[in-house]
Amino acid sequence: MEKRFTELKARLQEISDLGGAAAVLDWDQSTYMPNGGAAARGRQTALLARLSHENQTDPALGRLLDELEKGADNFPYDSDEAGLLRVARHNFEKASKIPSSFVAILNEHASESYQVWTTARPENDFKAVAPFLEKTIVLSRQLADFFPGYDNIMDPLIDFPDPGMKAASVGKLFDELREALVPMVATIAAQEPVDESCLLQAFSVDDQVAFGVEVIKAFGYDFERGRQDVSPHPFTTSFSIGDVRITTRVKENDLREALFSTLHEAGHGVYEQGINTSFEGLPLADGTSSGVHESQSRLWENIVGRSRGFWSFFYPKLQAIFPDQLGDVEVESFYKAINKVERSLIRTDADELTYNLHVMLRFDLEQALLEGELAVKDLPEAWNTRYRDDLGITPPDDRDGVLQDVHWYAGRVGGLFQGYTIGNVLSAVFYQSALTSYPSIPDEISQGKFNTLYDWMRDNIYQHGKKYTANELVERTTGDPMNVEPYLEYLRVKFGDIYSLD
Ligand code: ZN
Repeated sequence: MEKRFTELKARLQEISDLGGAAAVLDWDQSTYMPNGGAAARGRQTALLARLSHENQTDPALGRLLDELEKGADNFPYDSDEAGLLRVARHNFEKASKIPSSFVAILNEHASESYQVWTTARPENDFKAVAPFLEKTIVLSRQLADFFPGYDNIMDPLIDFPDPGMKAASVGKLFDELREALVPMVATIAAQEPVDESCLLQAFSVDDQVAFGVEVIKAFGYDFERGRQDVSPHPFTTSFSIGDVRITTRVKENDLREALFSTLHEAGHGVYEQGINTSFEGLPLADGTSSGVHESQSRLWENIVGRSRGFWSFFYPKLQAIFPDQLGDVEVESFYKAINKVERSLIRTDADELTYNLHVMLRFDLEQALLEGELAVKDLPEAWNTRYRDDLGITPPDDRDGVLQDVHWYAGRVGGLFQGYTIGNVLSAVFYQSALTSYPSIPDEISQGKFNTLYDWMRDNIYQHGKKYTANELVERTTGDPMNVEPYLEYLRVKFGDIYSLD
């Protein structure tokens, strides 16, 4: 048995190392690679992907798992061995059920579709991408059908980023959320808009970056095992538990951009850095799901980084860095500006309250497209109708409407958006749970101390890596199934105060 486990770990280590090497190439491509490197880089990453897929689907790996699973009763569910077998089996099944020929077709279609989208969006030309999107939907249905027996065609697609979650349970959470959020947003939209001009001045790029670094060091992001660079789209990537990198994006004339993207990515980063180091090289050394990963980025970005307590400590420091811009701006005005609620067209620019409305309508439209209830030619109109109903605004064109996100134009429809909102919901679930154990956390945050909160997250979430599913983590930490109430309560209290709602 022990010999078999050693053999399993050696095989999984190779898969992990191929993934780590591919991640280094991707990181380099997104940060420093000159354009001239593109063609060779495409070939190099394709080679690594092919080798990795061969390793992941090697029938010998399947036989090894079969043998080990026969003796698995000896391991309690909570043991690392049992967790490793669950995750390795899940990954093996996922990789093996999809034929390599299909993966090749999907990848080729994805890059063609993406190329067309990069010019169609600026040209506001939905018709140009429509035939590609139609093919994407056909391929996405085929992908789901490699996992027969589902209740909803979205289920197998959701299972890739959010293992164990189903369209029905996600849809139920979202309906509850939408019912509460739509009227809250409408009430706030009827008020006088908050003045955000203090954020829209000229701020030195280097000083902005330095301030963000100071904050995330205090959060617990370890620069001995990570680094931050600048890239067009901020992201987090992990080459190993000892090398977890983040990037940020800086706008000289908008203080929010670098600061909040740094806090957001550092939340993803501390999660990956906090995984139990004995999981190194194993598929357990990964986040649980896109939803749990996003819960950590949103926790540090919003619940902590957009809180009044946080700014009571950090605002004087920020004023000292930017005395000309912020010297005369009260902390309360600054706090309201960074929490301004506004019905806007673009998901990635949305505030905490409206953000989920953008996500939920995409989730519903994905489902309608896959189920054949909505035709691609009718998608822009369906999109605009939902923006009118949920956000009270109508996109003036498709560029800032249905064409705004890359997701559907990069080869797949289905399961791509729910993680963002599940993350918001879970950020409050986990924060509330930490507070129940340590009610002093908000006071500590207002003294610039984060170790109690960080330690709770590390002990209850980060260290487990991928050992438990999102639902298991929630039940282990709260004793209850996932629900939206802690998140709704957080929003009601916070925005009820800012906007004097009753
Ligand atoms: Zn994120």
